[in-house]
Amino acid sequence: MMIEYEEYLAATSVAEATQALANGNVTVVAGGTDLMVQTAASGRGVGTTLLNVRRIADLRGVTVDGGRVTIGALTTITDMLTDGVVADTAPVLAETADRFASNQIRNMATVGGNICNASPAGDMIIPLMVLDADVELSSWVDGAVATRTVALNEFFTGPGKSVKTANELLTSVSFNRPAEGFVGQFGKTGPRPALEISMVSVGVGGVASNGSLTNARVVYGAVAPTPIRASKTEAALEGTSLDDASIQSVLDVADSEVNPISDVRASDWYRRHLVRVMTQEVLESVANV
Ligand SMILES: Cc1cc2nc3c(=O)[nH]c(=O)nc-3n(C[C@H](O)[C@H](O)[C@H](O)COP(=O)(O)OP(=O)(O)OC[C@H]3O[C@@H](n4cnc5c(N)ncnc54)[C@H](O)[C@@H]3O)c2cc1C
Repeated sequence: MMIEYEEYLAATSVAEATQALANGNVTVVAGGTDLMVQTAASGRGVGTTLLNVRRIADLRGVTVDGGRVTIGALTTITDMLTDGVVADTAPVLAETADRFASNQIRNMATVGGNICNASPAGDMIIPLMVLDADVELSSWVDGAVATRTVALNEFFTGPGKSVKTANELLTSVSFNRPAEGFVGQFGKTGPRPALEISMVSVGVGGVASNGSLTNARVVYGAVAPTPIRASKTEAALEGTSLDDASIQSVLDVADSEVNPISDVRASDWYRRHLVRVMTQEVLESVANV
């Protein structure tokens, strides 16, 4: 399907972008790595105006202010691999970026685009949910930029769907600097190590001490219509000594909590199998920290 936009805008500030969005019928493009494929395939996300937000310099980069780490929406996956604040505060984000696509895609793909695309298999979403991240959404209200904050865990409503309204721009994602002793792990499975949409992905985090995790977080991708926090699995994991027997009980809980489908990438049965194998792998590695 050939798409023809009637207008192209390249905003250089959040005010300019949100004013354009307020006019309606606008499609935002950041890196374009999802949008261009989807537009060509199905016409998804098409409005009469194509709004390029890539030139809003303020929205790229990672900062830490007090105990809060903020990642601008236009920060690329390559930035996540090389940024010093990420390496210092949440290396699990860099590890995830290292499993993401190829260098060419990483140079264009943004963290904000990964979140807004709202795929159940979006990789960066998983460790960000482990970190209890919030997103900031900006819009133009009464002649000024207004913002609201939504927990990433409550952002997604279905495949490709979120609570973000058509007039909102995702401007940043932020989280509290993880506590001393925090460990985060990300695992994903596809036929190739990177350059692959996840068949199943898992993120685990918590403060590790004496072979157990406290304040445990378990997040799965591609096993439900949205990325999910597995709260029963987290409860089973909390403070539990990570020996073979207790890991097996945690895996039983995880199995009861996921609800994968069969599609072109994998059957539901295989995805369930992967949930067990990958969760076990991640927990064993946490146990050895
Ligand atoms: C070959 C290939 C390999 C890939 N591999 C992976 C992979 O390993 N892991 C993975 O998770 N993904 C992968 N992807 C998917 C894609 O690269 C990522 O989802 C990427 O992060 C999207 O970011 P983007 O900036 O390119 O988004 P875009 O394509 O520009 O936008 C995606 C969607 O979000 C909206 N949007 C973007 N930014 C904003 C914003 N700031 N505010 C409001 N709306 C916004 C757009 O309107 C669009 O609907 C791959 C894609 C390709 C083509």
